[in-house]
Amino acid sequence: MGELRVRSVLVTGANRGIGLGLVQHLLALPNPPEWVFATCRDPKGQRAQKLASKHPNLVIVPLEVTDPASIKAAAASVGERLKGSGLNLLINNAGIAKTNSLDTETLDNMSQLFTTNTIAPLLLGQAFLPLLKKAAQGSPGSGMSCSKAAIVNMSSIGGSIKEMYLWEAAHCVAYRCSKAALNMLTRCQSMGYREHGILCVALHPGWVQTDMGNAAGYTPPLTVDASVGGMLKVLSNLSEKDSGAFLDWEGNVVAW
Ligand code: NDP
Repeated sequence: MGELRVRSVLVTGANRGIGLGLVQHLLALPNPPEWVFATCRDPKGQRAQKLASKHPNLVIVPLEVTDPASIKAAAASVGERLKGSGLNLLINNAGIAKTNSLDTETLDNMSQLFTTNTIAPLLLGQAFLPLLKKAAQGSPGSGMSCSKAAIVNMSSIGGSIKEMYLWEAAHCVAYRCSKAALNMLTRCQSMGYREHGILCVALHPGWVQTDMGNAAGYTPPLTVDASVGGMLKVLSNLSEKDSGAFLDWEGNVVAW
């Protein structure tokens, strides 16, 4: 398996958890990207600032993923930085979870989780499409890859209709529904953006030791480093046959 080589990448929700891990691993690659755009709601936050000062190729971009104006502004500022070249890789990582059961689920909660976990990745795909297209057109060769142009949607096995993973431990109805819908969005994006040469996948990071992963009251089996290291290997190996797939951090196909 080769190492991921990508000129420009954007990660949403990059101030903590898996998003922060992705940024740290990308910056530590032997051939790091020329541009790593790390988006967060609070760009002045301690962790974001510490990272930025150490890496000239890291740009912190303010982004509230539930606000369409914020998404447009982020796309415009990334476009300006890239000065005519495209964005190779968009990683829609930001997400939220709530443990509501069937009985306690609410309209507000369903709406909030769908807005963040499903609708935001749709709007981000739309806003960054011109930059992704530019990257695909500007890369040599005919196949698809994450080095060329790709959208990675951070999904969850919790959204697998077949698996109903950890149902006994936590119903998380809104979360499961929002990720199942994100999987369908990924399929739609893979169909719609294929003609532009943009690869689209849904990725399950494993059960990971982050604020979200720890919230169920058990210690998850995976560290952020193990999950992110695995996912970057998987991404480095993807080609057009994988577009529209639902894979885990080890490259296994996850049932829809
Ligand atoms: P964390 O809760 O640790 O971090 C979530 C990140 O998303 C934070 O950076 C947070 O920013 C950001 N975020 C949330 N809402 C918004 C918003 N409206 N606008 C901008 N940023 C936002 O989660 P993880 O790192 O564990 O999860 C990352 C992704 O992986 C999620 O999509 C999650 O569903 C998925 N996943 C995680 C698993 C796990 O075991 N951890 C398992 C399966 C999937 P802020 O700090 O400002 O809140």
